[in-house]
Amino acid sequence: MSTAPLAGIGVGSGSAAGAVAKAAPAPVLPPPRPVTDPAAETAAVRAALAEVVADLEARAARAGGTAADVLTAQAMIAADPVLADRAAELVATGTDGPHAVTGAYAAFRTALLAAGGYFAERAADLDDLRDRAVARLLGLPMPGLPDPGHPYVLVADDLAPADTALLDPERVLALVTVRGGPTSHTAVLAKALGLPAVVGCPGAAGLQDGRQVLVLAAEGTVQPDPGPEDVRRAAEEQRRRRERAAGATGPGRTADGHPVALLVNLGALHELDGAAAADSEGVGLFRTEFLYLDREQAPTVEEQTAAYRTVFKAFAGRRITVRTLDAGADKPLPFATAADEENPALGVRGLRTAARDPQLLETQLAAIAEAARSTGADVRVMAPMVSLPAEAAAFAARVRAHGLPAAGAMVEVPAAALRAERLAGVCDFLSIGTNDLAQYAFAADRTLGALADLLDPWQPALLDLVAATAEGAAARGVPVGVCGEAAADPDLAPVLVGLGVTGLSAAPACLPEVRAALADRTLADCRRLAALARTAPDAATARARVREALRTPAS
Ligand code: PEP
Ligand code: MG
Repeated sequence: MSTAPLAGIGVGSGSAAGAVAKAAPAPVLPPPRPVTDPAAETAAVRAALAEVVADLEARAARAGGTAADVLTAQAMIAADPVLADRAAELVATGTDGPHAVTGAYAAFRTALLAAGGYFAERAADLDDLRDRAVARLLGLPMPGLPDPGHPYVLVADDLAPADTALLDPERVLALVTVRGGPTSHTAVLAKALGLPAVVGCPGAAGLQDGRQVLVLAAEGTVQPDPGPEDVRRAAEEQRRRRERAAGATGPGRTADGHPVALLVNLGALHELDGAAAADSEGVGLFRTEFLYLDREQAPTVEEQTAAYRTVFKAFAGRRITVRTLDAGADKPLPFATAADEENPALGVRGLRTAARDPQLLETQLAAIAEAARSTGADVRVMAPMVSLPAEAAAFAARVRAHGLPAAGAMVEVPAAALRAERLAGVCDFLSIGTNDLAQYAFAADRTLGALADLLDPWQPALLDLVAATAEGAAARGVPVGVCGEAAADPDLAPVLVGLGVTGLSAAPACLPEVRAALADRTLADCRRLAALARTAPDAATARARVREALRTPAS
């Protein structure tokens, strides 16, 4: 058995060692069999689909909170009568139950994959529901989380929300998935729970139950049969990080007092309580797409106002940066984006949708303004996917026309980074979306795990674009934050500050380590680290150089 480390995409900075326990495998579909009693077969199919719904609802009731929302949404999909009717139609044409269920789900799946981006990533959710129903029909246990009776490293092909929603961080030490990219459900969940994870790790398919592994999220590796010394070192590093994180609180600042705003990213109302409870100066990125997803029409101004008021009240006394609708590419919406674009990531998306449908933006700004007025909240509004200073100027004019005091532009397109000074000249702040900026700088689809190397936020060319943006903003005295995933990496945080970034916005669970990392270094240290990273020949060297420097005592 090889003990070579297995490579994947690391999520978070933690580590964990423990025994592997694999999620119950999906059932294997047996060869088709003739249907002798179609009525009984149909009844069995309907019963299996109903059992899946009942199981999800029961687990939702047990789970509560965010998990309950996810499971309830899954139960609603599984309860769709169109699915059961389609399966019944297939049985009527002589298809046996397991194949009929598989066929019915396949039609749903094809529709989601055709929609692409965010929806395509949800295809794994449908596969999970199908597997549960098929397992029931075959008399097998439903696939899902293992229960070996002790804490374990969960290894799975990919995790569905129905599994992850029930994850108990007390029992699950780390997550490892064979598939999935940096924006997969598993990656997002691992960050929210603060669990170390490695996703997109093909070698994990060969790991057996009970095998000891060491998961190193920062390295993106899974080490089978680690030596006691490796485990001890990783645990020590983990303990040190946790202690350091617990020791730093309050506004972000470097060791010599240079302020760095530390803010949370918020993407759904069910995240609100956790986000508001986090030690932060407010919201650096409020993604508003959740209001628009799964709808035929845009939400009304009243609906939007109510949602914004809820968020603004939860952050009373702190600043809230609302991003206007970012439809298109990985977030397609039937009423806002065209279905026939050949390259949706390069198409009419983000702020560009407002040029085609100004009312969409007007309604949103009116709702934000009304919610801000009635709550007295400190609200700033920024636009996604800005390419030209003229676009930013037009957006800022609309924001101000609604009586909102601060308008910003996201820097996600290299052209915007290169012309940041002009952009900063027409708005009140800039916010760098490193996820998209990496995608467009490297011509690499951000949803593809296979291109993770190019999308690595340590790529020196990406850091050059961050530096260009920060220089442009500084020339106009305008603040510039980072709100992409790069801001969540505690080793990268001092580098970003050294490049001139004035604020960092990340998942709430990531902020304590980021705050601690900044508190350890002076601004001059940060600048030295930034120079080390920028002059590196590649991302791996940049990361290694900075980590090495961080291990040596601060000057
Ligand atoms: C980004 O692109 O970095 C960003 C923060 O926006 P999103 O991930 O929502 O596209
Ligand atoms: Mg973006």
